[in-house]
Amino acid sequence: MAARDGKSSIPAAVCAGGKWTVITGKMNRSVRAGSWVGRAELHLSTLTPTQESSGDVRAFTVRLKFHADLDFFLGSRERAGTVARGLGERTSVKDVIESCGVPHPEVDLILVDGQPVNFAHVVEEDRMVDVYPVGFLSTQFKKDRLQTISVKRFIADGHLGKLARDLRLLGFDVAYNPHAQDRQLLQTMKTENRALLTRDRRLLMHAVVQTGYCPRSQNADEQTIEVIRRFDLFDSIAPFTRCLRCNASLQKVTKADVIEKLEPLTKIYYEQFRRCTGCGQVYWAGSHFSKLQKRLEQIRGQFL
Ligand SMILES: [Zn+2]
Repeated sequence: MAARDGKSSIPAAVCAGGKWTVITGKMNRSVRAGSWVGRAELHLSTLTPTQESSGDVRAFTVRLKFHADLDFFLGSRERAGTVARGLGERTSVKDVIESCGVPHPEVDLILVDGQPVNFAHVVEEDRMVDVYPVGFLSTQFKKDRLQTISVKRFIADGHLGKLARDLRLLGFDVAYNPHAQDRQLLQTMKTENRALLTRDRRLLMHAVVQTGYCPRSQNADEQTIEVIRRFDLFDSIAPFTRCLRCNASLQKVTKADVIEKLEPLTKIYYEQFRRCTGCGQVYWAGSHFSKLQKRLEQIRGQFL
């Protein structure tokens, strides 16, 4: 799929007046996961006149079944069953799937008439397509999986500040700049080989994104659980090892190293300190520590 100016053209098809029409739609860049209401509200910038399909490809229908929680991305009417897409030209299965609103990084397995395929697979006649998220049917089709499971480096978009902080608290490397433009976000993602965390499905559909995740919940605590589950992070949790402010790693230091920066009561009551190797922020096991312990218990409760 060609990407232009941070947007991607989504080939889609509709049945108009009994004839199949191929259209090119651009989804509104501002549409976010929580407000998705289906293709009816896509902003279609280009609409070609109705025409019978020409050449050697006849009009055909692709039926798609989105399994498990992938129906999160569908319109309410489509969630109940199979989504049908009428097409008039050869189209990659990736484009057909994304025309339904499901970003490719969310798709781990595609079966076309029961056979596993990759994103570049072209459909050109009637087909039944089963689409699975990460973790579903985990013991089957192992070599045909499309996503990387275990990722340890992330970049969060500007709306996920609480999630970024929460993941850093657990020791995960999360780049976050609330002022970054999408282009910068994608550039950092690519050059630093990070997985993209965003609830902006259009951003997640960008052709340059290889690994990413759209948190379903709008609650940061629940989002953290989702990310730990999606990227199999539970065994890598390492609290108090990363700076909440700048994401650099923390280093153990002696009290003497940091005593000039401490408040009077901190000097009296605490003996163990860590300092950020990036911004110099000093951390100690103060009141945040018990909150963190409680939070860790909650997280462990979700997985054990
Ligand atoms: Zn720092």
